Amino acid sequence: MRGKLQPIEIGIDGEGRIARIAKSIRGGVREDLGDRVLIPAATDLHVHLREPSTGPRVESFRSGTEAAALGGVTAVADMPNTEPPIDRPARVREKQDRARGELAVDLILYAAVGPQTAIESLGAVAGAFKLYLSPTTGIEQPPEEGSVPSLLARVAATGLSLTVHAEEPLAFRTVTKLDSPIAWDAHRPIEAEQRAIAGLLPGPPGLRLHIAHVSAPAVANSVRGSGHSFEVTPQHLLLAARRDDSARFKVNPPLRPPAIRAGLWDEFRAGRVPVLSSDHAPHPALVKDQEFARAPSGMPGVETTLPLLLEKVREGELGLDVLQSAACDRPARWLGLSHGRLAVGERANLLAVDFRRHRPIQAARLRTACGWSAFEGWEAVFPERHYRDGQLIVADGEFVGARNGVVVRPDYARA
Ligand SMILES: [Zn+2]
Repeated sequence: MRGKLQPIEIGIDGEGRIARIAKSIRGGVREDLGDRVLIPAATDLHVHLREPSTGPRVESFRSGTEAAALGGVTAVADMPNTEPPIDRPARVREKQDRARGELAVDLILYAAVGPQTAIESLGAVAGAFKLYLSPTTGIEQPPEEGSVPSLLARVAATGLSLTVHAEEPLAFRTVTKLDSPIAWDAHRPIEAEQRAIAGLLPGPPGLRLHIAHVSAPAVANSVRGSGHSFEVTPQHLLLAARRDDSARFKVNPPLRPPAIRAGLWDEFRAGRVPVLSSDHAPHPALVKDQEFARAPSGMPGVETTLPLLLEKVREGELGLDVLQSAACDRPARWLGLSHGRLAVGERANLLAVDFRRHRPIQAARLRTACGWSAFEGWEAVFPERHYRDGQLIVADGEFVGARNGVVVRPDYARA
């Protein structure tokens, strides 16, 4: 492990914020974590919890946020491509109502940006914006290329952050048999990401722009050069496209060839990737286990993203400081939330991790309701304890908290 581990005590005030960090603090109720490692809890700025929905759905705010809690994630940002999509203020409020009393962790609500969207009034109620440049689950009609600059300028004026799914459909290639992750990679090449990003950058002044699920080092380099934020997912970091894999491994953008995957991992471990997100897409197994070409894209991940990467820390392949920055600090800052650092004034959203204990991922034991994982059998380090605002919400693999997570909005000044 890189960085310095040292014995500390943390004082938490009545509002659940970190009040003091010192070698030793007197008074108050004390809890001894032994020689477990204390780190800030993660923020996942890309999940699909599927509420509301009309189709076959397994996930809900209840199951999805409990999965997040068990995976060490203290705040999730929920994507707007639901049924119906979240593209007007009334639908944001409806979603807030559905979430009440259900949330194991905090929730940030994205609103969708489209040609007909009331961006200005949505800016007053949503937590962030999402723009899809290619059709996806729930979004059939992405905005026309010519309209994008004015949409970006209007989003910039709201002050909210914007996440973009950046793949340019005009760069997709015709592939006769879409029957494997290799064919999917050929159909939606890296060039589609690069073209979409070239059309977005540099963007209007003041825009807080974040590119979702960058799949290749070359794409990471273009975004980094522009000064904007971007994320990678554990699937693009750890899984390469393989001929024999099923549609469970179908994601957008596609899994890439081994050398590209290895290059992305090198970028990540060098600390050159700002954000780690799951793109948690909990499709039921029944829907994924069909002909490759017909199956929807996406895989579950909110519960396993941090544990998989903590395992890499355990193995000595990744610095804990690098992981903490990408999984905890930067995603929270980008969303305007004040947690993700061990620092006075931050919310005491914390994890106690025992790096001597790891176990293989078993989908049957996961809390996400979709019941499968592309990482079945992979070793992982699950946090033993999770505190939200200083309150214990996970102990020894069980959710023990109250359903009192809240829908939060950005406070950039405080974050
Ligand atoms: Zn997504």
